[in-house]
Amino acid sequence: MKADGDPNLTVYFGGQYMPLGEARVGILTHALHYGTGVFEGIRAHWDEAQQELFVMRPLEHYERWKQNCGILRIAVPPSAQQLCDITVELMRRNGFRTNVYVRPLAYKSAERVGVSPDDQDSFAVIALPFGDYLHAEKGLHAGVSSWRRIEDNAIPARAKICGAYVNSALASDDARRCGFDEAIFLNESGHVAEGATCNIFMVRKGKLVTPPVTENVLEGITRDAVMELAQRELGLLVVERPIDRSELYICDELFFTGTAVGLAPIVRVDHRPVGDGALGAVTRGVRQLYFDATRGHLPTYWNWLMPVYQSWMKHEQDLSSPASISAG
Ligand code: PMP
Repeated sequence: MKADGDPNLTVYFGGQYMPLGEARVGILTHALHYGTGVFEGIRAHWDEAQQELFVMRPLEHYERWKQNCGILRIAVPPSAQQLCDITVELMRRNGFRTNVYVRPLAYKSAERVGVSPDDQDSFAVIALPFGDYLHAEKGLHAGVSSWRRIEDNAIPARAKICGAYVNSALASDDARRCGFDEAIFLNESGHVAEGATCNIFMVRKGKLVTPPVTENVLEGITRDAVMELAQRELGLLVVERPIDRSELYICDELFFTGTAVGLAPIVRVDHRPVGDGALGAVTRGVRQLYFDATRGHLPTYWNWLMPVYQSWMKHEQDLSSPASISAG
């Protein structure tokens, strides 16, 4: 996937809405040289029948972002709720009626040479029309990477730090050049960690298994959603435990999860078929549930969604209502 930015898109940068083409940083910016930024990825899905754009769990994404920024001592002054409001406003200003990817980015913004960071921080929120990240309809061929996942005591994988994505870029580039669709990282203890930009699940002996968050993985919000859907809707037992590499070769089903990829089935791993090499029943079931939940088709999960246009209409109504006028 590549979502090239149209310079006329409206973005939020330097505390104001402006065209993407005018949102520029200087060549000496600290984060550009040293990777001292923290980013997020949030999805909004367009539902044609309801004529609505649903942002998926934005509050949790912004809470995670602010926490992760704290690891690098980057200040993002607005609250998570205010960041949700900025996001909805961005969607409205761009008039999106398609699937969208939102990229919040906070970074050390001083323009000077020297690795030790100071307290000069900036942030931006960019929203782009965005199709499928991996073309996963028929299932992916994933390869175990010779690159190891970064360790928490070197660069925390859970923090979504810009510089840490060199690790993902190396593995992902290598995987594609070797003919795979995506890479699977092992960590330094040799256990399965995650994909280059996604978490991983396997189905084995009727259970859904994923590595725990202490295995050098990102604490994925899609991971969390999939665990809840599998447990509540399919009655599956979900287990967080270390996974050996060889279990990838003997499991029944395997899939990636992530904001950009959604739920992407893996049908081959290191040139071996996963199960019988076709999309498995659990993968198909959870994938459909995730699709329905993110498009507002499942009332149980409406609390995950922020509807862009309805909430704007409600906001407009509130503004023009006598109550809001008298409230000043
Ligand atoms: N792992 C990595 C390395 C990622 O970059 C992502 C994408 N944010 C994920 C997992 C999935 O996390 P989430 O479901 O929160 O998007």
